[in-house]
Amino acid sequence: MARFESCHEYVLETISAMPEIITLKKITKNYVLGRVVIPALNNISLVIQKNEYVALMGPSGSGKSTLMNIIGCLDTPSSGDYILNGKNVSTLDDNQLAEIRNKEIGFVFQTFNLLPRLTAFENCILPLVYAGIGRKERDKRAMEVLDSVGLADRVKHKPNELSGGQRQRVAIARALINHPSIILADEPTGNLDSKTSAEIMSIFDEIQSRGNTVILVTHEEDIARHARRIIRLRDGLVDLDKVNDAAASHKLQASS
Ligand code: ADP
Ligand code: MG
Repeated sequence: MARFESCHEYVLETISAMPEIITLKKITKNYVLGRVVIPALNNISLVIQKNEYVALMGPSGSGKSTLMNIIGCLDTPSSGDYILNGKNVSTLDDNQLAEIRNKEIGFVFQTFNLLPRLTAFENCILPLVYAGIGRKERDKRAMEVLDSVGLADRVKHKPNELSGGQRQRVAIARALINHPSIILADEPTGNLDSKTSAEIMSIFDEIQSRGNTVILVTHEEDIARHARRIIRLRDGLVDLDKVNDAAASHKLQASS
C-alpha cells in the first residue's frame, strides 16, 4: 500500500475517479393514505458512483425499501430530483420509467418474485419479451445468464422445484439479462440460510467486480461486510455514510 496512507484513502480515490451514476438531490417521499401523511424519506441527498458496492442498512421502517424503489424507478419521489446516468428521471411518467428500468436496472427481491407457472428459463427471459427482443437472442442470453449463476442444469424447473437459493439465482439471472448497469437487491438473502446467503453474496461480488454498480439492503453485518460503502438510514434520513474498512482492506490486499 505504498501510495496510500490508509485503506480509507485508497477507496476514496478509487471511488471518486468514477463518474456519478446516481445523484439524489433533496429527495422526500411521503405516502398519503386518506388524510394521513406518512413521511418515509426526508430530504435525502446522495451521490453514488459507477461500480460502487453499497450496503443500505437501518432499522425496519427507516425508508430503505422506499429509497431502493425510487433508485430503481419503481416509484417516484414526492419532491426532489433524481439524476440517473445524467438524466433527470424524477419527472418521468410510468411508461418512461418502465423503459429506463428495463434498460438500466436489475432488481432482486427478498421473496424472489418469480412467476410460479413458468420455468427458470421462461422467468429469466421475461424482461426481454417486454423489450421486444427476438427469440433467438432471448434464448442465447437466457442460457448465458443462467449459466453464469450456476443454473445451466435447472432451466426447465419451475420455482417450486427449486431450492430457495436456486430461486434467488434465477431472479438474479433475470435481473442481469438486459445487461443493466445497476443491480439493486432488497434484502436478497433475507429468506435464505447462512450458507446459501454466502453463495448468493459471492454472485453479487462477482457482478460488482465485472463493473456493475451494486446496491443492496440488508439487516445483517455479515452481508454488509461485502460492500465497500455502508449507508445507514434512520427515520428517513441518512444517519451514517462510511467506507467499509473491512471490505476496503480486503480489496487493497487483492490489488497489491
Ligand atoms: P424499510 O424498508 O426500511 O423497512 P420502508 O421504506 O418500507 O422501510 O418504509 C418507510 C416508512 O414508509 C414506514 O413508516 C412505512 O410504514 C411507510 N410505508 C412504506 N410503504 C408504504 C406504502 N405503500 N403506503 C404507506 N406507507 C408506506
Ligand atoms: Mg424494506
